[in-house]
Amino acid sequence: MEATTFVLFGATGDLAKRKIYPALFNLFIDQKLPQFFSVIGLGRRELSNKAFQSNVEQSLRMFSRREATDPIIVEQFLSAFRYSVLDVGHKEDYQTLLQLIEQKEEELQVAPNRMFYLSVGPEFFETITANIHESGLGTTSGWRRLVIEKPFGHDLQSARELNKNLSKAFTEEEIFRIDHYLGKPMVQKLEVLQKSNPVLKALWDNRYIANVQITANEIVGVEERAGYYDHVGAVRDMFQNHMLQLLMMLTIHLPNNSTVDNVRYKKKLVMDSLETLRKEDVGSHVIRGQYAAGTIQGEPVVGYTSEPNIAATSRNDTFIAAKLQIDDYFWRGVPFYIRTGKRMKDKSTRIVIEFKEPLKQSGANDDNALPNLLVFEISPNEGIVLQLNSRDPLHKGEFKPLNIDFHESQGNVPEAYENLICDALQGDSTFFAHWDEVELSWQWVQPILEAYEENTVPLHLYEAGTYGPVESDELLKQDGYHWWFDE
Ligand code: NAD
Repeated sequence: MEATTFVLFGATGDLAKRKIYPALFNLFIDQKLPQFFSVIGLGRRELSNKAFQSNVEQSLRMFSRREATDPIIVEQFLSAFRYSVLDVGHKEDYQTLLQLIEQKEEELQVAPNRMFYLSVGPEFFETITANIHESGLGTTSGWRRLVIEKPFGHDLQSARELNKNLSKAFTEEEIFRIDHYLGKPMVQKLEVLQKSNPVLKALWDNRYIANVQITANEIVGVEERAGYYDHVGAVRDMFQNHMLQLLMMLTIHLPNNSTVDNVRYKKKLVMDSLETLRKEDVGSHVIRGQYAAGTIQGEPVVGYTSEPNIAATSRNDTFIAAKLQIDDYFWRGVPFYIRTGKRMKDKSTRIVIEFKEPLKQSGANDDNALPNLLVFEISPNEGIVLQLNSRDPLHKGEFKPLNIDFHESQGNVPEAYENLICDALQGDSTFFAHWDEVELSWQWVQPILEAYEENTVPLHLYEAGTYGPVESDELLKQDGYHWWFDE
């Protein structure tokens, strides 16, 4: 792998501490970092290199997948870390940074390849990239890459504006937009599972699939993110990005020798084929919910509007369920039900594929038969379950559903950020969100945002510790289906 300087804006922040340093450490142990690798952490407050390294070490102890117990390995890892003070608005700080980077590149005699990772609030993205451009930090004979975190904009217009400004300093090929769901190992496996297994490939369309259910349930409430979340809601925080990315990754049909360009092209095709939702149809296709007081795992919890720093009158959404249709050759007629919410009964991200029921169609008389299901468990545990019908030897050979269940053992699975940072270092953007996808996703949700804003769709309260408003069940019931695994 090519020598790289990893320039981290927001080096004292929460994301850096919980995800980025542990990911780098695990890549280091797996020998997946470049031989010449240096990290320059940036933050507003004064910090010595030593104090910075000690903060990084602490984060490894708290959050690393592998224990940071071998002092020699930890020391080797930390020796790559330097710190520099930078306030995003101070142009002179970028000059200091440039000198530091050039000095380091010269000292190590390495190619000037620079990766700028913006682990800061989105309000700083434009200022930072403009300053990288103007200061000369982005002028290098090596490569330069920009890594940014969601949110990419607040709606269609602001996303376009943001992208226009970012592209003044970086080309699309140089921008790596992290959607950490794309880094989850099971999501990265979807394309391979589908295209390299004839048994799945043969069934992957509307001839055999009755419906698809994509769920991302969280147990937690708004936590300390009130200021951010109350302006965003489930539709922007989860649906526009993570949930639509899962839909794309599941439904693309790829050739065996697919490339990054194939993946991007096919994802765009899916978004292009998604049936447009008109504002007047939001009420019949989308369920907006907000959690009320309830009980989570035996403990009473307050409702959303009683949470600290949330106004009692807030109509923000903490739950969304939607029905989508892809109007293309493969998926025409298959409903995709997508839901995500906070304060749900359990924590789980999964995709359930429900197959059509030839038994019922052929008039076979067995009440115990269930539809075949293929379940991709994405988190917290990773696994695949296949539900089949079999015979029950104890009950006169009646039909009995059985589950073929595979789960990855915990601890063996790399974290999403490990996969994504490793890919970005290698310049592989397969599992990053391309601008076309981001734009088309905003375009699709825009009528929902407007309907919410204008309050033309109801806000359904649901008890914390349930699976969301009953109206979300109705969404499937009217098509003759139900959410699987709500128990
Ligand atoms: P944070 O508030 O913990 O950290 C922000 C960092 O920005 C801090 O290091 C702070 O010092 C720095 N900063 C703030 N103002 C600055 C200025 N004027 N000049 C220089 N530095 C400044 O935020 P975070 O949780 O680490 O999130 C960072 C980004 O990642 C955000 O865009 C967030 O939406 C996104 N994100 C975070 C998470 C997460 O798990 N924390 C998950 C997904 C996305």
